[in-house]
Amino acid sequence: MISVEEANLIVEKTIRDFGIQTVNLDDAIGRVLREDFFADRDFPPYDRVTMDGIAILSSSFKPEHIFKIEGVAAAGSPPMTLEKSSNCLEVMTGSILPNGCDAVIRYEDLEIENGAAKIILDAVKRGQNVHDKGEDRLKDSLVVKSGIQLSPAEIGVAATIGKAQIKVSRLPKSIIISTGDELVEVDQQPLPYQIRRSNVHRLLATLKKYKISADTQHLNDDLDEVTDKLRGILEQYEVVILSGGVSKGKFDYLPQALENLGVTKLFHKIKQRPGKPFWFGQATSGTLIFALPGNPVSSFMCTQIYFTNWLIQSIGLAAPQRPSGILQKTINFKPDLTYFAQVKISYNENGQILATPVEGHGSGDLANLVDADAFIRIPRGKDVFEAGEVFPLYFYR
Ligand code: AMP
Ligand code: MG
Repeated sequence: MISVEEANLIVEKTIRDFGIQTVNLDDAIGRVLREDFFADRDFPPYDRVTMDGIAILSSSFKPEHIFKIEGVAAAGSPPMTLEKSSNCLEVMTGSILPNGCDAVIRYEDLEIENGAAKIILDAVKRGQNVHDKGEDRLKDSLVVKSGIQLSPAEIGVAATIGKAQIKVSRLPKSIIISTGDELVEVDQQPLPYQIRRSNVHRLLATLKKYKISADTQHLNDDLDEVTDKLRGILEQYEVVILSGGVSKGKFDYLPQALENLGVTKLFHKIKQRPGKPFWFGQATSGTLIFALPGNPVSSFMCTQIYFTNWLIQSIGLAAPQRPSGILQKTINFKPDLTYFAQVKISYNENGQILATPVEGHGSGDLANLVDADAFIRIPRGKDVFEAGEVFPLYFYR
């Protein structure tokens, strides 16, 4: 059995780049950007009118002056020219500021009558209600740096600079496999001694957050069946996530089956609670096998702490930050294991993170996960952890 620190190092050693692919702009949300975005034109590309109203030459403004309207400039029309500097042009938001004008006055500040406008303001400032060409970014400047997860904000920028196709990290071909004869599908009514295979769907959801559409399968608790099916699976996938069948039970066949198939065991069992039975290995093809414990809380914890950390770095994102939280209730924990306690997060008036333990009923209590926000990592080496002590947090929302 190895420590949490050792397990982490072993998992992190297998972080790898799955390469780059090009996707359509509208499929790029949530993917990891693998190119820099540069402005193809100035932002904005022309002196842009920001209010509906009239454009004038500001030096022509005098209280009570009546500006004759020469015409209307709509958004999308080529630039117009003000013929007489004591006149004005009506302009719409998004239109290019007419030549000979340097200020825009909103309709709200005007009285318009008989084709002429009176400005009901005491002063007009040069440049008012005009978004200057290049004010935000200049042509060729860097607007988005590679290595971030694309959000709607970056998609908007990509569209603005004409990127119909975007280079993003390729995602590993993944499969999630449940094991256990007690498991039934979500849409089935379980018999009294059966349960629905929730781990699979929770794992699918975890992968979907990173836009991976994993396949799924189920294996019965039968050594030959498990071995046969895994053989094909190892050839087809780059990441195999298994759930259950790695403990000491009579029908926990996975370690045996994986060994039979020549998969290198990188570790089995970690000095931690929950999640002790986690098995991790690599096939000769490079395929990684995350064989998670079956108990939902253990499985969830190993997913968050080991798998997600591996995944986000393998798709080119930075390692997650681990802020620390102040324990709000004393925890007594005797076993020589790192304890990942579930905690509810709140903040004090100084903005410090407070972590209140949410005691559940052990590794099977998946409903308790809903009440907590994070795991707090309580180290080995002592039995009593006082309220007020500070430990690292692993947020899962
Ligand atoms: P195992 O590690 O196979 O002994 O499973 C440990 C516990 O986790 C048992 O109570 C299983 O019924 C439960 N379990 C295993 N797989 C799943 C799953 N996919 N969804 C929900 N519970 C599961
Ligand atoms: Mg089982």
